Amino acid sequence: MSDPFRLDGRTVIVTGASRGIGADVARAISSRGGGVVLVARSGDALRELADELGGPVATVAGDVGDTMIAGEALDAAEALGGLWGVVNNAGINPFYHPVVETPLSEWDEVLRVNLLGAAAFARAVGRALAEGGGGGRIVNLSSIAGLTGLPNIGPYNASKAALDALTRTLAVELGPAGVLCNSIAPGTIATEMVQGLMTANPALRERLVAKAPLGRIGTVAEAAWPIVFLLTDAASFITGQTLVVDGGRLAGG
Ligand code: NDP
Repeated sequence: MSDPFRLDGRTVIVTGASRGIGADVARAISSRGGGVVLVARSGDALRELADELGGPVATVAGDVGDTMIAGEALDAAEALGGLWGVVNNAGINPFYHPVVETPLSEWDEVLRVNLLGAAAFARAVGRALAEGGGGGRIVNLSSIAGLTGLPNIGPYNASKAALDALTRTLAVELGPAGVLCNSIAPGTIATEMVQGLMTANPALRERLVAKAPLGRIGTVAEAAWPIVFLLTDAASFITGQTLVVDGGRLAGG
């Protein structure tokens, strides 16, 4: 019996791969035998990671909100061969105010990257996978923030809830073509994004950890491996779902 957790001969585009969760997803895919197209704005960091991975890998430096970039990434994946899917991981959470004090320009920026960027990649890759006829996967990075009303990050919460809705629609539309679409909703994971939020609000760390049954925030690897699971044959009957990866934080109330 072949190992259902392998990704040999399959190529996945990972957005936001220059650091944090995305970089670890790329490492994990590569370690399972898969090819990766690394996408982010920081070209140098992508090239460093590509050197580290060694296996089938390509880099595309650009902003996911720029509609040309999804097409470039798709071309790079097709050149590597074995297009298998996309992990829409690029995301930002740079603002911290109540909704009533949030300028609409901040909504624009967060939705442009978190939602429209993912939609652009899902559109390009989803169409190519459906036409290819060999199935495939789309995994969107949402967040427990999209399932709760965490204060002061309204545009971020809304963008993540919208990604879960996008996931379900994609799952219904692309299921007949064998393209499985799911979301991962991490809790608090130790990355630069979270460090930035905690610096803006030092009480936040204690608040987040106090409600987590495991009593700690998660590591990037703990967020990355469930994403890779959804890309493998081990997850071949899972679609339209949001998998919460939060150390029990939501269960903690
Ligand atoms: P980081 O801030 O550490 O990394 C974000 C990645 O996205 C970087 O590679 C960054 O690269 C890239 N990126 C940001 N903006 C753009 C853009 N406009 N175009 C292309 N790439 C972009 O974030 P995390 O690793 O923490 O988060 C990854 C995902 O997981 C995000 O979607 C986030 O919302 C989600 N998430 C994270 C949680 C956490 O606790 N860390 C919890 C729940 C969800 P560059 O700057 O080089 O472009």
